[in-house]
Amino acid sequence: MRIFEHGLDVVEVVPCTAPHPTEVPVQRRQFLRISCAGALALACSPRGANGGPAVVATAPVEAPAVDLPVRPAAVTPLTKSADEWSKLLSKERFHVLREQGTERAFTGALWNVHAKGVFRCAGCGLGLFHSADKFDSGTGWPSFTRPWVATHVGDRGDASHGMVRTEVVCARCAGHLGHVFDDGPPPTGLRYCINSASLVFAPED
Ligand SMILES: [Zn+2]
Repeated sequence: MRIFEHGLDVVEVVPCTAPHPTEVPVQRRQFLRISCAGALALACSPRGANGGPAVVATAPVEAPAVDLPVRPAAVTPLTKSADEWSKLLSKERFHVLREQGTERAFTGALWNVHAKGVFRCAGCGLGLFHSADKFDSGTGWPSFTRPWVATHVGDRGDASHGMVRTEVVCARCAGHLGHVFDDGPPPTGLRYCINSASLVFAPED
């Protein structure tokens, strides 16, 4: 596993693969599917360790680098050069969004956030995922069963790092979000494994 250092930030490049669908036997995948469903049930009815109210992690509320509408009538592509993005984004967000980086598991700001709201692209502000579709996958990355709006998330093949995966990107700015796997819970059976660094959270009342 290669690790790139960016100042004080250490970013793993390979993960977002656990489990990788082409390497997991059927029985294992069924177990994982059940585990995910169980995790989803737990997330829907959280309880504290001592039976009291669960502690709900709060999410930092940040504006995207370019604050365009969260749900436009039509998605119009936003194109900027790498140099322009580098001036708008933090080092970590730039590495993930524009260089297809992957943050280290369990280190992002949003993997354990289950408050109600929309997860927007940190680059352009497009609404990508909703808390209603978020589940605890146990991977340490924000995980969703589907995009908030289907046309807001694009996908493309990714054969890097010796694996065949499906990369998911923002449909407006083409920023790298993560990957999608077919071992998710109902209703879609999909697991969108997304970097916190690609997202900003917009809470709903
Ligand atoms: Zn975007």
